[in-house]
Amino acid sequence: MKKILLIHTGGTFGMMPLHPSQALAPTDIADLILKYLPDIQTLAEIDFEISFNIDSSNIQIEHWQKLGRLIRQNYQKYDGFVIIHGTDAMVYTASALSFMLQGLDKPVILTGSQRPLALIRSDARSNLISSIELATHPIPEVGIFFGTTLYRGNRTIKISSTSYEAFASPNAAVLAQVGLDISLSKNILEAGNSLQYQDSFDHQVICFRFHPGLSPDYCQHFINSPIRGIVLEALGVGNLPINENSFIPWIESMTDAGKIVIITSQSPYGRVDLSLYECGHQIKDAGGIPASDMTTACSLIKLMFLLGKFPSDIKMVRKEFQTAIAGEMSIS
Ligand code: ASP
Repeated sequence: MKKILLIHTGGTFGMMPLHPSQALAPTDIADLILKYLPDIQTLAEIDFEISFNIDSSNIQIEHWQKLGRLIRQNYQKYDGFVIIHGTDAMVYTASALSFMLQGLDKPVILTGSQRPLALIRSDARSNLISSIELATHPIPEVGIFFGTTLYRGNRTIKISSTSYEAFASPNAAVLAQVGLDISLSKNILEAGNSLQYQDSFDHQVICFRFHPGLSPDYCQHFINSPIRGIVLEALGVGNLPINENSFIPWIESMTDAGKIVIITSQSPYGRVDLSLYECGHQIKDAGGIPASDMTTACSLIKLMFLLGKFPSDIKMVRKEFQTAIAGEMSIS
């Protein structure tokens, strides 16, 4: 029988309604799982760890490091890892783990639920059961399982705050589909030879969305700030104004100041291509870096990771950002 480490980190999954407010709050998760899923040990030999127990909105870099170190320490002991996590910040944690745990040869699957396990008609039960079963399969990736689908974690976005199909990976094929049977896709990454663990992140980054009428004057203060990199969600294939309220001088100044400006798209499907329009050409010439078809969340985490990995080599950060290192983009 396969050995799985089940790690709890919090989220709605293990919460209980607080009386009289009915607001949800964390509770004793181990007891809860054994009460509602007493036969879970028939799927695999499961050990249980509580890494932390928070609403995922509270997640910080230190939580990713704690989680990553727990997996690294237990890596040889288990065939797979399942992480119960809040859905709100799940794609950020999945992206972070995909960069921290390069060279995986076993599954690391995040899951959670929209409705607590203790409530009737909860999706927690089926999400956890399928995640544990998937973690016994040869899927050497950091995935997110939700509803009926296993996604590559760093390609995933949260598309609904209420639906039981809460996630999607617009620019990447899914890793597995769970119905009557489990069907694994051919797009699963090849297993690595050895785990290369790295957990430095730089928090001096910021992410914002462009909108028509936005004045670059509001962004000037970043030039002389401790911010080292910005992810800017631009329009379409990565466009920003070049006439009135032009962003080009600002991108140039940021680049000259040794900072990174990443261009992602507000369109979830497709990719950034700075060669298509005059706007894109000027952004590129000013030093903007296209995020290709990476999600905005993953672009931000990748930037934090690379700034942490190469703290004094901005050239390397620029180069590595445009290279796929954990299946996070289709085209390098
Ligand atoms: N706020 C919760 C969290 O992300 C929502 C959830 O778990 O679905 O921790």
